Amino acid sequence: MLAAEHGDAVPADVDTLLALPGIGTYTARAVAAFAHGRRAPVVDTNVRRVVARAVHGAGDTGPPSNTRDLADVEALLPEDDARAARFSAALMELGAVVCTARNPRCADCPLVDACAWHRAGKPAYTGPTRPTQRYSGTDRQVRGLLLDVLRGTDGPVDKATLDLAWPKAGQREECLDSLLTDGLVEQTPDGHFALPGEQ
Ligand code: SF4
Repeated sequence: MLAAEHGDAVPADVDTLLALPGIGTYTARAVAAFAHGRRAPVVDTNVRRVVARAVHGAGDTGPPSNTRDLADVEALLPEDDARAARFSAALMELGAVVCTARNPRCADCPLVDACAWHRAGKPAYTGPTRPTQRYSGTDRQVRGLLLDVLRGTDGPVDKATLDLAWPKAGQREECLDSLLTDGLVEQTPDGHFALPGEQ
């Protein structure tokens, strides 16, 4: 389709990207922002966690909602395309390296003075929890697939490798987030993923 309909080029427009097979909410906006420098809210599990804490004062993200999560991040983006794209990269990196699921490094965080959760004294999460499901296609299965990837490698793996474990980006991100929260997966300082103690 890129060759036939888009002149051998990857489109920059989110709606055009979304019309391509296999391109979902996350990927379309990531390509627009990071490949083309466009203003587009890019929401992964790390971004959701930073927004939940810094903006909403909640220690955890709760169940994902595409509509709400995209609107949350959209509201934070600078108007200028290039600055917005840079902001998106920074937000994702902050969640991966500083505002981690289990051990947020608030003393090193540039948002520490403005973070609602930190200012509130880091209260325990009391919001809605993730619903229970049957096994096939469930979060339990996806968590197992993600762990299988990590067990099958000698060291930390990058996000792109984990992304191959399950095609549904939203569920995959949620499961990865829960594994990080539960301490079954750890993130390295450079943003890779590993089983505990394998870093
Ligand atoms: S101050 Fe702490 S909780 Fe708040 S965004 Fe930074 S690392 Fe996360």
